[in-house]
Amino acid sequence: MPEGHTLFALARDLHEAFAGSHPEVTSPQGKFADGAAELTGRELVSATSRGKHLLVEFSGERWLHVHLGLIGTFTVDEHEWTAEVPVVGQVRLRLRTPEHVADLRGPNLCTVITPEEVDAVLARLGPDPLRPGADPDVAWTRIHRSSRSIAELLMDQSVLAGVGNVYRSEVLFRHRLSPFTEGKDLKRASWRLVWDDLVRLLPLGVTTGRIVTVEDQVLDVEAALGRGEVPRLTERSSSVYKQAGMPCPACGSRVRTQVVAGRNLFWCGRCQRRR
Ligand SMILES: [Zn+2]
Repeated sequence: MPEGHTLFALARDLHEAFAGSHPEVTSPQGKFADGAAELTGRELVSATSRGKHLLVEFSGERWLHVHLGLIGTFTVDEHEWTAEVPVVGQVRLRLRTPEHVADLRGPNLCTVITPEEVDAVLARLGPDPLRPGADPDVAWTRIHRSSRSIAELLMDQSVLAGVGNVYRSEVLFRHRLSPFTEGKDLKRASWRLVWDDLVRLLPLGVTTGRIVTVEDQVLDVEAALGRGEVPRLTERSSSVYKQAGMPCPACGSRVRTQVVAGRNLFWCGRCQRRR
């Protein structure tokens, strides 16, 4: 599933390509024909994300609300204005201007909503570590009263917006936190470590298009960015995510897996004991 960094980068790309234009909006697949008819020809004012939600403002107080879900994709490409752009697969929504085309496929949600409904969507979401000024204490008030595990709470978008299954497993490992610590037993200092780390890691995901969580790679990427270079990542890697049965990089113990909050959690039972 795309995590918050993917949506942040997507909103940025859509904004750069379409803000201020009046795209033709269509639904080649037909399932979004009514919504497309409502949006086409309007000015696309801005595109933003909050957690895993994409919100695109059009003139006349119309907002496009998209959630990609598990398998959705939204591609943004340049094209020659004279060329026909073939429709590949089930395209729910296409935005097109003389310079750009964006195709949405397989979303969990694609709908036109009002400003009031946008407010309701935002009110249901916890703070997003990618947004400047996001308040980690808002998440903490929900965490420290909860008897659910931190592994479950990190996946709850009303607690924290944007973190998915990969960042969850990896950030808990990075701080040697037991994923089964109940929210009410988690130390506030531990929560701040997790939050501050997500604030550090998620922008690297936006910049590189990869989830970077292994410390050596994190340092390499940060150093490259510091030199003004585009970081090059040779291969995807993780410490515990999808490493079930493999040796823990810290202690050599076997990495474990178990379904928590509907998705496979990965952790090291020997290293991750902190609360
Ligand atoms: Zn270990």
